[in-house]
Amino acid sequence: MSSEKTPIQPASNFIRAIIEKDLALINYATKKWAGSPGDAAHQDAGVVDTAKIRTRFPPEPNGYLHIGHAKSIFLNFGLARDFGGVCHLRFDDTNPEKESQEYVDSIADAVKWLGFDWHNNNESNLYFASNYFDFMYRAAESLIEAGHAYVDSQTAEEMRITRGTLTEAGKNSPWRDRSVAENLSLFREMRDGKHADGSLILRAKIDMASPNFNMRDPAIYRVRRAHHHNTGDKWCIYPMYTFAHPIEDALERITHSICTLEFEDQRPFYDWLLECLAEAGLLAHPLPKQYEFARLNLTYVVLSKRKLIQLVEEKHVSGWDDPRLPTLAGARRRGYTPAGFKLFTDRIGVSKADSWIEYSILEDSMREVLNVDAERRIAVLDPIKLVIDNYPDNQSEDCFAPNHPLKPELGKRTVQLSKALWIEREDFMEVPSKGFFRLTPDGMVRLRYGYVVKCTGCEKDADGNVTVVHCEYLPDTKSGTPGSDSVKVKGNIHWVSASHAHEAEVRLYDRLFKEAHPGEGDKDFLDDLNPNSVTSITAQLELGLKDVSAEECFQFERHGYFVVDKKDSVVGKPVFNRTVTLRDAWQK
Ligand code: ATP
Ligand code: MG
Repeated sequence: MSSEKTPIQPASNFIRAIIEKDLALINYATKKWAGSPGDAAHQDAGVVDTAKIRTRFPPEPNGYLHIGHAKSIFLNFGLARDFGGVCHLRFDDTNPEKESQEYVDSIADAVKWLGFDWHNNNESNLYFASNYFDFMYRAAESLIEAGHAYVDSQTAEEMRITRGTLTEAGKNSPWRDRSVAENLSLFREMRDGKHADGSLILRAKIDMASPNFNMRDPAIYRVRRAHHHNTGDKWCIYPMYTFAHPIEDALERITHSICTLEFEDQRPFYDWLLECLAEAGLLAHPLPKQYEFARLNLTYVVLSKRKLIQLVEEKHVSGWDDPRLPTLAGARRRGYTPAGFKLFTDRIGVSKADSWIEYSILEDSMREVLNVDAERRIAVLDPIKLVIDNYPDNQSEDCFAPNHPLKPELGKRTVQLSKALWIEREDFMEVPSKGFFRLTPDGMVRLRYGYVVKCTGCEKDADGNVTVVHCEYLPDTKSGTPGSDSVKVKGNIHWVSASHAHEAEVRLYDRLFKEAHPGEGDKDFLDDLNPNSVTSITAQLELGLKDVSAEECFQFERHGYFVVDKKDSVVGKPVFNRTVTLRDAWQK
């Protein structure tokens, strides 16, 4: 896998071309669908499917979705939408452990939030793979009856040894030639709880000499006494993922089963299994086909549920929706938007080559979308006082600030100017560095939407820190009035009136990891955590930012994009999260 900086690739999607070709085939146009998942008899009694293609997004409900899943969601739901098809949301809950309702709910929420829906007319198309256990059991018996599967009594260790290597064929199990009757009766005993966990296993009978390991008699059913969140204690045998997944696709009449590249070597087994079951009359044609694409790898984050669970459980972050996490719940709280994710996924395209995508491409996508969507507001994040000494005490006046420079139709709002203002500490330099055009002793700047002011000096505390800057304003220079630009200045700074400001908590987020590839080499990925990934500050905001609703996004002028935190904000007391800065400051 390349770890070089990946240039922005032209968005291409090779799966589109495949679908276009398939749609011309007669068996796609005439495939039947009975309105719900089921076997060949069920589907063949249905009507011609109104969905031109069927795709699915099949998460295992064992964690929260992350940004990698967004790629898969846009791909599967997006293709279905574009080609007049339907995308199913299928919870792949065939593994009895680690699955919970909390995860099911959060996954459904995230898919909806990204703008997708699994309904098609009256069908919901939300499915749970565990509802297919009865069929899977029947499919296994049918394989046994056709001589395509056998019960193996070897231990796990024996099986590992007889599996062979890359250069050597495997050895047939001594149990490989059990009779159909014996296999059937042993498999039923497995089901009936007569055998200990791990003692017997059902294997497909394919080819121990195959160059593809996945074809060397793969395990398909194991004994596992575990309570299942959906089926309770009904089963003490559970199907292996590689057996279950193709069957789930076929029962749901999926046409294009899109998965990540690590499943490429499973494809021959996928096809083998479905052909066997179709031959036995259990599954209807056309059978689903599997296509693989490169998973998303993003720099400066980890996209693996296991690692995300560790970050949450060990409390390196505040929870699944911590705005620093690459979970979709976290991204949402951070202020990332569905439109931003859409732009990002379009931009990175879909290919068959693994690579790393720069996190800055994601941030750029969010910036671009927010630049258009977010109204402008004024916030002083690191405030010091500016006093206009020649401005009357107890007076204030209206200044007019455009809500959106690209959208004049959004109008202007009023902000108050008065004698004492808050400005950014960094906008004043007592000893200016070269090229600094903002406030300096004797210097002049424009107070954005207000007057030109001339600095007259500053006050300092005992430690030499500037506490107050003094200035005088030039009354004829108010923005928007005739002749206001008669005095030319190079700098232009933002401000809020101290007596009209609203003080609020603002959280500045930085990257969660300080390395582009956390945990690369033999390192523990936790060692690469950025210790300064969040800073909480008290900022002075224009008064209009007091009454805002959760999840509203704004551009704070000259700073970046900020969102009203949906968890910790209360009415009249919003907390803001920085979504992304205006420019990419990370590399500097
Ligand atoms: P993880 O490795 O994080 O546990 P997973 O693949 O086990 O992820 P699933 O719940 O099985 O997670 O994934 C649901 C779907 O999302 C699968 O089709 C999978 O291929 C896809 N997916 C998961 N991670 C990525 C990724 N990084 N990029 C693209 N698609 C992904
Ligand atoms: Mg998985």
